[in-house]
Amino acid sequence: MTPDAEFGYELLVCRYAELAWHPSDGSRPAIVARQLGTKERRWDTVVIEVDPAAFGERRAFGERTIDSDLLHVVRGAPAEWAWYRDALPHPGYPWRYVRQAVHRAADRDLIEKRRRNGRIEFRRTRPYPDWVERIVAVENKPDLDRSAADRLADQLEHDVETALADEAWLATETTGERVEPALLREIPVEAGILATDFSEGVHGNAGSVTWHPSDLSPADRECRDPEAKTLRLEIAERAYGKGWRSFHDTMRPDCRHFELRREGRALVPYCAAKEKVPTARECAGSCPSFSPEPPQWRTNGWPIDGGPGKGFEQVLARRRERERDRAERVE
Ligand code: SF4
Repeated sequence: MTPDAEFGYELLVCRYAELAWHPSDGSRPAIVARQLGTKERRWDTVVIEVDPAAFGERRAFGERTIDSDLLHVVRGAPAEWAWYRDALPHPGYPWRYVRQAVHRAADRDLIEKRRRNGRIEFRRTRPYPDWVERIVAVENKPDLDRSAADRLADQLEHDVETALADEAWLATETTGERVEPALLREIPVEAGILATDFSEGVHGNAGSVTWHPSDLSPADRECRDPEAKTLRLEIAERAYGKGWRSFHDTMRPDCRHFELRREGRALVPYCAAKEKVPTARECAGSCPSFSPEPPQWRTNGWPIDGGPGKGFEQVLARRRERERDRAERVE
């Protein structure tokens, strides 16, 4: 059954991308996240294609996002001890913020630091790898009507112009029917079109390419200006730390009605009280049907520090790790 909410569709597209990337060019190692982008543009689904060996090196830095301030420190960390102000380019903001970032980076073992002659010195523990190959933006629109097509056309136009992503797609649900050709003509020709049929849940063959995307990256990728390179890396880092299964962070898996249900090879949230996939907005403490899981559930064979809610989080975390392992192993 296909969840009606766009949120539910987005989760299915994310899982499909994980199973089937790349939909037209054959298997490529990738990680998938949702609701990421820049101040100007938020993408529904983001696919980060990775270099497997370099991705393995990135994982050695831990499973959390390295945010923009930390990236500045980690990428600039020298092999030999040096005063941070000598080693790093001027950040464009006061040095005291860099000093704080050096302390934070050391607390997370991303670098080493020491104090010498009243100065903070640092050095790298390992080089930060060049792990991001390509960034792909996917807009999800299960019901493509005229107004949605117009809005999407503007958004995809923006992606084509900024070339921040290497490729842009529209994913739309067909359940066996053809996508309306008149609407597809509204979409910029550079964007690929993926027609999905999740009536049997998510499987690797639940999508078919209706239109092939163009490569939006500059002819010489090295030509990207340093600011764009840094912005792309920040997006990739957020995708790495967040993934697409982090929906439980903003939902209430500790509600007695919260479940994880199978949609083919996807696990999606389900509300037994509302008998549907709840949106992230309605599945909150303010939900009138919210009911905390009873304390005795938390001792009945569930992890000692939590009940089913904690169990759901662990299942999702394990699945994320498994997909990261897979992206690292693909040659
Ligand atoms: S009852 Fe409300 S809070 Fe509980 S699972 Fe359903 S939507 Fe979420």
